[in-house]
Amino acid sequence: MLDRIDKYMIKGNIVNIQRFSLHDGPGIRTTVFFKGCPLNCVWCHNPESKLKDIELAYYRELCIDCGNCKDICTMGCHTISGGAHHIGRKNCVVCGKCVNACPKSALEMIGSESPASEILTETLKDRAFYNNSGGGITLSGGEPLYQPEFALELLKLSKENGLHTCLETSGFTGYKNLERMIPYTDLFLYDWKETKENLHKKFTGFSNNLIHENLLKLDKAGAKTILRCPVIPKYNDREQHYIGIAELSKKLANIVEINLLPYHTLGSSKCESIGRAYPLSSLPSLSDEEKKKRTNIIQRITDRKLLWVDHNM
Ligand code: SF4
Ligand code: SF4
Repeated sequence: MLDRIDKYMIKGNIVNIQRFSLHDGPGIRTTVFFKGCPLNCVWCHNPESKLKDIELAYYRELCIDCGNCKDICTMGCHTISGGAHHIGRKNCVVCGKCVNACPKSALEMIGSESPASEILTETLKDRAFYNNSGGGITLSGGEPLYQPEFALELLKLSKENGLHTCLETSGFTGYKNLERMIPYTDLFLYDWKETKENLHKKFTGFSNNLIHENLLKLDKAGAKTILRCPVIPKYNDREQHYIGIAELSKKLANIVEINLLPYHTLGSSKCESIGRAYPLSSLPSLSDEEKKKRTNIIQRITDRKLLWVDHNM
């Protein structure tokens, strides 16, 4: 089947390809992180995938202030004085010269344009692991459906090559985009961030009406879903929201399970590296006992399978 790969030349912007993922669907998987997302979740843990465009990241802890980047940048973006390294990102044309000149890998270009065929070739390297574990490829991000043509080609290619496919999505897109993916997607990892519409708007910038409607349509069309619910203390960690998750799951005939995803702070350092402010101050993590309480609220209402999925582990 690999001889058909060259027929597909659609390119997409991706952040990275992560091999041996254990939390993005069943078995061992390769997760492809798409670049670009239309939502503005305050707790975003992948801020580097928010913008579609390529960005420059800077890791202070690796920098030795050698000044190579300052010397090579023709746009005058780097200034180093008194131990402080400032990057004037407004003038940056993301040429990458400073990245190549840095001896300590303290600079990195986030994002690259890759053809679907190249990503598939990379993914197929781990076919033996997928076969043994029931794994496959997962499209994540960012929001894969922000680049629908590219997502579709990658899913098609993956199916043609016998891979199990998962698509993680916020569902914030026109239904047509979702509908086109159904024949090539074995499992949708569908985000459900907040039940109450006004709070959803406050936390993500947009209403959840479209997301809710799309989920019901997807289910009606027979698509299998896992409901993925980030748990953010002081934000959506409310009894009413857990009741909402349980009630929503009862409406879905083809739901496989509910996943609760504990908050983690990775977004904070990532924001710093790309020069963006992180809107959350440190939030508490839930103890096992507190998690059990949340689990019980849901399980009082539904017997759907429920798992806590911690990306930090
Ligand atoms: S990517 Fe290019 S323009 Fe941007 S800071 Fe580096 S050298 Fe300057
Ligand atoms: S080239 Fe790298 S190590 Fe040297 S000052 Fe620039 S970022 Fe720091």
